[in-house]
Amino acid sequence: MTIDLKALSESVENLADVCTRCGMCQAICPVYKNTGMESDSARGKLTLVSALHEEITHSPRKTLNRLERCTLCGGCMATCPRGVSTVDAFLLARKALWEAGVLSGTKRELLRKAFADPAQTASLAARFAAVQKRFVKEDKARVASMGKYPVPKVRRPFLSERAMEENASAKGPRVLLFSGCLVDKAYSFVGEGLVGLLQEAGAQVEIPEGQGCCGVPLLSGGDFEGFSQAVKAHLPLFDPSSIDYIVTPCATCTHTLKVLWPKADEGLDESEMALAQAISKKVMDGGELLAMLGREAQEPVGDLSELTVTIHDPCHSRHSLKNTESVRELVRRCGCRLVEMEPGCCGLGGSFGISHRDLSLEIGQSCLDRMEATGADLVVTTCPGCMAQIESLLKTSGSSMRVRHAVELFTEEFS
Ligand code: SF4
Ligand code: SF4
Repeated sequence: MTIDLKALSESVENLADVCTRCGMCQAICPVYKNTGMESDSARGKLTLVSALHEEITHSPRKTLNRLERCTLCGGCMATCPRGVSTVDAFLLARKALWEAGVLSGTKRELLRKAFADPAQTASLAARFAAVQKRFVKEDKARVASMGKYPVPKVRRPFLSERAMEENASAKGPRVLLFSGCLVDKAYSFVGEGLVGLLQEAGAQVEIPEGQGCCGVPLLSGGDFEGFSQAVKAHLPLFDPSSIDYIVTPCATCTHTLKVLWPKADEGLDESEMALAQAISKKVMDGGELLAMLGREAQEPVGDLSELTVTIHDPCHSRHSLKNTESVRELVRRCGCRLVEMEPGCCGLGGSFGISHRDLSLEIGQSCLDRMEATGADLVVTTCPGCMAQIESLLKTSGSSMRVRHAVELFTEEFS
């Protein structure tokens, strides 16, 4: 299929034209807060994409670089009084750059290979795990460092390779788990913990076989077709007519399944798009369902009354899903002392944390300062990506604070 680049650019320009340049989105932008550069704010990026076709034609590489200086946190979209669909405009602009072939062929191929097909994702992760095992120290750390980059330790067996007990006789809601790449391959104990806790709360939980990536790295890279392929691969696994909920232990996956899957349309027919819509309506953050169901069943392993906890809300939970209460409910239920930190981005932002590592670390440093200011023993979050970034930040700074997924409050013994 040939894409009409001019028409695509015009769609982006139309989205950007709604902006009145009021600047109210600046205060929430983690990138602008750190650099103070107008071009890094949503307003600056919208100015850039207001003439996207011209920009792509004259300086494609520069346009891509400027657009990539964004964690896609969604803060600007949530704040904008004009309701400008900033993130949609940025993603569509990235698509135009993808179609124009600005990204190198190797990167494009790697992205597709790694994330569009679940079987390939699993096979690449298995190979990566074997290589990592030879070079990375076996210790308590969950994240290894490759220079300044945090690399979660990929561990086999993956969650999807483990035999999980099913409780088909339970009387509670029927639940499917979408584990997401990081939980499946690196933080399987979080997925296992969530399944166990939901089962204790009476839910019938299943982990459909054949899952892979939710596809968000493809979408962020501008590969809308690859994203649709990833969505399409999952549609037969999550029949919404026979279940009550689809849960994920990852805020980014929850946002992708709930908000972005219904927007996938390349190579999907009408019935597949309707199925993606129906699936999205059943999606819920795993912690939210736990908070809803597990009132009596959940007990932490030990006495946590001496533990002071702060919460890092992932940007997707905060800005898009507007789900920040359930994690607090879980923390309270454990009997921990909760000290709130000033909210904000951890700086990872998916591939942003790799392609713009120095900027990511600067944003991360202010997150670290806000966490440390609480004096907490533990920072709790609901996104494995945030966990990896925060663990790396804590390790580098020599902090004694630890980071855990909310699920682990119930499954780990804290000393
Ligand atoms: S995106 Fe919205 S908040 Fe930001 S400058 Fe434009 S109109 Fe104002
Ligand atoms: S999505 Fe986030 S990082 Fe990107 S421009 Fe908007 S507020 Fe800034």
